[in-house]
Amino acid sequence: MEHFRLKNLVYPADRTVIVTAFCSDTSLLKNIEAGYISGNGCHQDGSMPDSLRKFEPIPFDVCGNILEFKLFLAGEGWHSIKLRYSVDGESTYGYLEFYTLYDDLFKLMPYKGNFHCHTTDSDGLNTPQNALCVAREAGFDFTAFSEHRLYTDHTQDCDGLLNKLGIKLFHAEEVHSLPRWVCHIMSLGASSGVSRRQDDLQYKADVEEAEKHYPELAPELRSYAAQSEVILRYISEAGGLGVMCHPYWRQAGRFNVPEALNNVLFERLAFEAVELVTADNVNTSLVNAKYLELARKREPLPVLAGSDWHGQQGERMECACNIIFASECDEKSIVEAIRAGRSVAVSGEISPVVFGDFRLVNYVHFLLRNFYTQRDPLCERLGLLVLCALSGDDSMSDEIARLRAAIDLQNMMLKTQVSI
Ligand SMILES: [Zn+2]
Ligand SMILES: [Zn+2]
Repeated sequence: MEHFRLKNLVYPADRTVIVTAFCSDTSLLKNIEAGYISGNGCHQDGSMPDSLRKFEPIPFDVCGNILEFKLFLAGEGWHSIKLRYSVDGESTYGYLEFYTLYDDLFKLMPYKGNFHCHTTDSDGLNTPQNALCVAREAGFDFTAFSEHRLYTDHTQDCDGLLNKLGIKLFHAEEVHSLPRWVCHIMSLGASSGVSRRQDDLQYKADVEEAEKHYPELAPELRSYAAQSEVILRYISEAGGLGVMCHPYWRQAGRFNVPEALNNVLFERLAFEAVELVTADNVNTSLVNAKYLELARKREPLPVLAGSDWHGQQGERMECACNIIFASECDEKSIVEAIRAGRSVAVSGEISPVVFGDFRLVNYVHFLLRNFYTQRDPLCERLGLLVLCALSGDDSMSDEIARLRAAIDLQNMMLKTQVSI
């Protein structure tokens, strides 16, 4: 709403709280009326309104340009305050939207990012430094470089850049079955590389042993199932999280993974998460269909999104992204959060579709509408200016500092100061 903004967007559920709003023009406060709308479809006392558009008039205090509403906010979900006021004699209205969370989620922050992208360290077109700027332009709090068969660590040599951008870089690696890259498995948050172990004789021996677990498969498929099993074990030994990448990726007119093999990968192997969303909507649809089918057979896997960004013309890193709920934006907390199922996969940008647990999906739609719409343009400009600074243009350092402060201020809107 143009003339009003909330101090905080998120409040603890089932508490009486003070909702504070700032007004840009005190003359608008003369004949202002306010009403409360609970997102759960009922009035505050639980009764049903006789019209959807009806709101409950609520009292409020005005002090200078500040409006304060004392409200009991029942349950978790969306809430709004409808304000009716006059601008130049014309009656107008607008909504202030905010959200309540139960304590477990209230204590956490949403962190947005992508784990699946490639730089010039493998077959991507951007240097790691440029890719970090692009990730910040995409509005990400974190990213990872998942190079093909290569574990990289740029946390030291990109330290200054990471600080300037206010973005975190995590460890990843896209591990492949051999000789054909039939299976694509992301190792996320591991302390060392896994692909290099595939050169050891021990890998061949481990795969031969694992092949005995898949007698129902044709011999060539058996090797790929066995390799996936061994790769997942190696990832686990390195402290990483094994993610199934783009299971329905099609190229040259055929799926990369034969369906008989995909069935084994989905049903029997120890993946810890699956890329439910990718840049390819056919893949996204098929993985979802498979996921729903599997929900009857095994515990659903945590969901992730991977844009598999290579920096080619027209590719958008943010077309598939993750929002993860964690206490801190560090590798350990983020990996733990994924394991605990606190991740959602977001598909698309203009009208995003969100996948994951109901509570998280509901909250993420609120955030996409009320939080990221405000923060993303700041991140986009910050990423762009830091990218210019990389090529030697230092003229924007004050603007970069201002943007960093503005982003911090936006983040603070999700942190209401209450003791819980
Ligand atoms: Zn891949
Ligand atoms: Zn990839």
